[in-house]
Amino acid sequence: MVKDRQVEPKNVAPLVIQEWKDVVRPIALQTMRGVVIVAGVQVLSMCIRLAIADSLTPERARLAAIDGDSLRFTPVNLTDGSRLTLISPKHWSDIADEVTQELTKTHRELTGMFGSIPPFRSSIRLMDEQSFYELTGAPGWTNAMFFRGEIIIPLATNQPIDLDNIHRSVKHEYTHAALSALSRGRIPGWIDEGLAQWIEGEENPALRATLRNYLQKNEPVPLHLLQGGFTKLESRMVPAAYAQSLLAMQAVVQTYGITKVTAYLQLLREDYDRGLAFETAFDMSQDEFERHLRSTLKTWARENSASRSALDVTTLVR
Ligand SMILES: [Zn+2]
Repeated sequence: MVKDRQVEPKNVAPLVIQEWKDVVRPIALQTMRGVVIVAGVQVLSMCIRLAIADSLTPERARLAAIDGDSLRFTPVNLTDGSRLTLISPKHWSDIADEVTQELTKTHRELTGMFGSIPPFRSSIRLMDEQSFYELTGAPGWTNAMFFRGEIIIPLATNQPIDLDNIHRSVKHEYTHAALSALSRGRIPGWIDEGLAQWIEGEENPALRATLRNYLQKNEPVPLHLLQGGFTKLESRMVPAAYAQSLLAMQAVVQTYGITKVTAYLQLLREDYDRGLAFETAFDMSQDEFERHLRSTLKTWARENSASRSALDVTTLVR
């Protein structure tokens, strides 16, 4: 997710796949957006945005071009001038129509939340799982990715299409694209991931337990490590980083409202220093926010684990 080195408008934050493979592959028997559950082990599986283009071999690039004749290219024109191209195999026309509707719906929802979205161009590509993994080198549990302005969503060919999962993926990845436009590519990784998870739908039921388990033995992941994406994280920190990002942004939205989040994005778009933008929009420094977030999370994780006390996210802010 090398945001700091990427020129794409997106917070392109490629997870270092090798790190994840070691952790997840041995137990990832069942995958879906959100959770991998095997033998009582719960691991969050995330939207993976990784540096695929850099790893494309000529052979892989050719693979990407295979069957060009059987692809369908569908322009999706959105309000405010954004233009997407949906690329999908012709035999998935029905799914492509679903995705088009979901994109339009998500765009409408995001416009309702954040106001008009600065126009941008992007593409979204549906690909069979095998081609996806061969092309990207991504591990089998990967759901979707966003890289250099392109969204890629793999679809299973040996089991029924999971439309709900596709909808979530489209919503999540398209939110990244829109947030990138809204912040002119300057949104910090944790806010980007937090908002994308919040907007994609219901919280993953395993998320809080995963974070709590992590916090039993570890400190919360420092936000500055998530500033430019999650690249530099150790693999064991990544699920916690996603969980913290979501909880932090749930707290911000519940406490300050989406209007202030929108104001923050606008300040980023206007090239404000990130720290100043945060303080201006939320009337507290990011350091102060993080100090409180960390101590509240630690207290919550320390509480008698048998009681499984619920976390009131509003307590994460002040
Ligand atoms: Zn994401």
